[in-house]
Amino acid sequence: DETLNGKVALVTGGSRGIGAATALRLAREGADVAVTYENGKEAAQDVVAAVEALGRRAVALRADSADPGEAAGAVDRTVRALGGLDVLVNNAGVGVLGPLEGLGLSDVDRVLAVNVRGVFLASQAAAGRMADGGRIITIGTCMTQRVPGPGGTLYAMSKSALVGLTKALARELGPRGITANLVHPGPIDTDMNPADGPYAAGQATMTALGRFGTAQEVAATVAHLAGAAYVTGAEFAVDGGHAA
Ligand code: NDP
Repeated sequence: DETLNGKVALVTGGSRGIGAATALRLAREGADVAVTYENGKEAAQDVVAAVEALGRRAVALRADSADPGEAAGAVDRTVRALGGLDVLVNNAGVGVLGPLEGLGLSDVDRVLAVNVRGVFLASQAAAGRMADGGRIITIGTCMTQRVPGPGGTLYAMSKSALVGLTKALARELGPRGITANLVHPGPIDTDMNPADGPYAAGQATMTALGRFGTAQEVAATVAHLAGAAYVTGAEFAVDGGHAA
């Protein structure tokens, strides 16, 4: 079904992993799609080609979410390239995990710049350019609900800011019919968190389903929210029961 026919979506960090799967899923449902990337130009171009093969328009934008001008500027570039913006998916994120004493100031600045400031600036820019009825969907983490072990101080702190942002955006933008929602993935098999990585078995065990999820399984919930008009300010775990 093509519920997003005629809509334009911007997926930050859409060259790989959850973002790439989301871009393809939104295109399958009818959207034209812009994806941002930092270094993965070829991967982003592959996503563009895959979207175009579905008969939709697509554009890959190099935009470092850690740079304030680039984080906000991706919105204007999307509008220029594709003629509007209806759905923003704040997906780009960095996972810097490790013992508290090993996290340096540059780690703190980088993680907050990408996971928090970049999301705020993109959302602010999108709100300024979206027509009524737009969607802002942000990718958090199951670690905002439950941190199952050491090493997550910086990452969990950064992603938890998105809970407040999402609720406040919902209140601010509700009068325009613009919704804001947050999706919390559990362990998802991507380059960031490979299902055959050193910490994978423990993560799978912590879910109720006993396995990693796929990027496509997260994308399905994002696509649902892109079409949902009466859901806002809400959080959705796609975590195999990690938080149960
Ligand atoms: P990947 O590392 O596999 O992919 C990250 C994507 O984000 C890439 O497209 C990358 O682009 C892009 N990106 C990273 N930093 C920047 C930046 N500064 N500016 C622009 N783009 C950037 O990650 P996942 O797909 O696993 O994660 C996606 C989101 O889901 C993140 O927010 C992550 O925190 C969250 N998440 C992931 C979980 C998991 O288990 N995988 C669990 C919970 C949450 P490039 O190709 O250029 O590097």
